[in-house]
Amino acid sequence: MKTKYINLKEEYNEEKIKETAKEIVAGNLVIFPTETVYGIGANALNSEACKNIFKAKGRAGDNPLIVHVNNFDMIKQIIEEPNELEKKLLNTFCPGPFTIILKAKSIIPKSVTAGLDTVGIRMPSNKIANKLIEYAGVPIAAPSANVSGRPSGTKIEDILKEFDGKVSAIIDAGMVDIGLESTVVRVIDNKVRILRPGKITKENIEKLGIEVEIDKNILGKYDGKEKVLSPGMKYRHYAPNTKCMMVYSKNEDAMVNKINELITGKNALVVCRDKNFDKYDTKNKIKMGNSLEKMAHNIFSILRQVDKYDVDIVLIEGMEKDGLGLALNNRLLRACEYNYLEI
Ligand code: AMP
Ligand code: MG
Repeated sequence: MKTKYINLKEEYNEEKIKETAKEIVAGNLVIFPTETVYGIGANALNSEACKNIFKAKGRAGDNPLIVHVNNFDMIKQIIEEPNELEKKLLNTFCPGPFTIILKAKSIIPKSVTAGLDTVGIRMPSNKIANKLIEYAGVPIAAPSANVSGRPSGTKIEDILKEFDGKVSAIIDAGMVDIGLESTVVRVIDNKVRILRPGKITKENIEKLGIEVEIDKNILGKYDGKEKVLSPGMKYRHYAPNTKCMMVYSKNEDAMVNKINELITGKNALVVCRDKNFDKYDTKNKIKMGNSLEKMAHNIFSILRQVDKYDVDIVLIEGMEKDGLGLALNNRLLRACEYNYLEI
């Protein structure tokens, strides 16, 4: 298949989005930007088209897709009436990097929900994503644009390698804004359970006077025993081929010293904050930014770069676990396959 490449990096062009929306209507796959990461999308009401997303990604059939909408009427068409707390969350965090699991109407195919009676709903704030949904006139099911298990796609150079020839069109809008996938929540017993942390943090939700729980699989390794509330938690994620380890201490000097100790005599790569770059005794280093926002923005493309270095181990500086740090810890723990040291 010849993939159409639509360049919207330099300028926004609504005609081109309108043209590309026809691919969605025709039942084809389109890669498009959102504020979180790039998505690989299909008409969420077309079961066959959605099955092709699973094929293109190599995604496990029991891992449901998030459905993207661009207005509240579209939400009403696909879910049963939400309760008061769910409505409050929808009204506060949509549009934005936020996904809420709600009871699905039967119009949503089982291939999207992976046979569950719920569906993840997200209303992106990205203008291109919104217009694509608007012109398609249907909700768009879209997981992250990456082969399953690989880091999520945050820029087109990374995505083309995996999907050129496998999708009908790719809209390139340059590097995404946030860089981590949406926060996924579900309301259980009048509390909010975070199933995947993201830019909308536990603290942001608590500010509304709502009780928030963090699912134990967010920082822990799934033990294969209990049923998970979000099937994505079971799978290997984001992992480079090179072995990675995350090291953290609240005392920054102690963290730097420990990493220097661990790389001594080894062929290693260090992924660190810009301000610590010169403190490491190795030629192989990557800067990931200083703030949590910058680190979130860069982390997936960095995780894709590490395999280009011919090293035996990658040492990654860790971060606090509150605010956006929870989401970064969640992604990095998986990338490191839980190889984590806190001192
Ligand atoms: P991705 O599409 O790659 O961003 O991943 C979507 C995440 O949302 C996965 O971890 C899914 O397991 C989770 N998810 C999607 N739909 C549901 C649902 N109905 N119930 C629970 N988790 C869901
Ligand atoms: Mg994903």
